[in-house]
Amino acid sequence: MIYDYIIVGGGIAGSVCAYELGKKGKRCLILERNSRQAEKVCGGGVSYKALRMLKEIGIAAEPLFLMNARQVGGHVIYEDGGCTEKLYGEGRVSLGIQRTLLDQYLLCAAAHVHAQIQFGQRAAMVTKSGELYEVNGFLARELVWASGARGISGEIPKEQSIGLSGQIAANVNLAEDRFHYWYFDAADHEKYFWAFPIGGHLWNVGVWNRHFDRKLKNDYQYCLEAFFLHKVSGKWEYVRKPRAEFLGHCDQRRPDSYRKNGIGDFAGTCNPVNGGGIHYAIRSAIAYAGAEGGADGYSY
Ligand SMILES: Cc1cc2nc3c(=O)[nH]c(=O)nc-3n(C[C@H](O)[C@H](O)[C@H](O)COP(=O)(O)OP(=O)(O)OC[C@H]3O[C@@H](n4cnc5c(N)ncnc54)[C@H](O)[C@@H]3O)c2cc1C
Repeated sequence: MIYDYIIVGGGIAGSVCAYELGKKGKRCLILERNSRQAEKVCGGGVSYKALRMLKEIGIAAEPLFLMNARQVGGHVIYEDGGCTEKLYGEGRVSLGIQRTLLDQYLLCAAAHVHAQIQFGQRAAMVTKSGELYEVNGFLARELVWASGARGISGEIPKEQSIGLSGQIAANVNLAEDRFHYWYFDAADHEKYFWAFPIGGHLWNVGVWNRHFDRKLKNDYQYCLEAFFLHKVSGKWEYVRKPRAEFLGHCDQRRPDSYRKNGIGDFAGTCNPVNGGGIHYAIRSAIAYAGAEGGADGYSY
């Protein structure tokens, strides 16, 4: 079997790319290193722009609203002892969701247009003989890297930002239809704490820092105790323990020949100002597959 495309990575960018190529009749194979159920280190905040873009290419957002997720209509920013709220406006519903659910939904969309998905397949070495790429014994005419911020070698350029998040089950005295951001260091607005409702009694809680910082865990613990746990009534527990990961918003260390075939965080599309990346991963996948994008919302 020779595929038209092997896509390395079954996250946001990889699935959307396979979906777009599949619609054009291309035979795609997604290689995903994780098992089917692996939960990502991600806040799970999906903006209305991202949902709108999915809808424009034919991936309905409505089923996502029916999953264990939260519809979010605005955000609250806490800083300098006060807070300001922004409402997104009519028809601009965002979503807080566990990333596993979102990724599975997008992989299903890709499978619907006949993409094949192999879990537990970490792509390590790529060879090219003649016109064909070979990855883990699979052959294709084209290769797309959608493997996230770590690039091919797993090394991280110093410029990348970093986030750390966990999922907590609790009753929380915060509006459940808002994303909550706390700028906990008045002297440094290049880091913040967040609490996102992601369905049921689940919250994604984390910190983002524009610069690599070994004190990230301490910041997280400080914010958890100083902000979040004050709002919790009754018992709480981790559904996913806190983990850290880099975000892809600058060029990775990789051979030039691979660079043009990268999408999503691999290609550095994540927003360096706030760390949001889902919307841009979708956008870059659509652009790669040559589809028409939406009318607006495609730039920072
Ligand atoms: C802590 C944190 C919180 C975040 N919160 C948000 C948020 O709330 N909203 C938002 O919009 N963005 C958020 N982001 C950014 C967002 O997660 C990324 O921008 C987005 O996931 C990028 O999508 P992607 O498809 O490029 O990469 P990913 O979603 O990372 O997908 C890459 C896939 O490739 C697989 N893979 C990696 N290497 C290999 C390999 N060698 N072989 C096979 N498979 C491989 C991985 O397992 C993964 O499934 C957050 C990031 C972090 C770290």
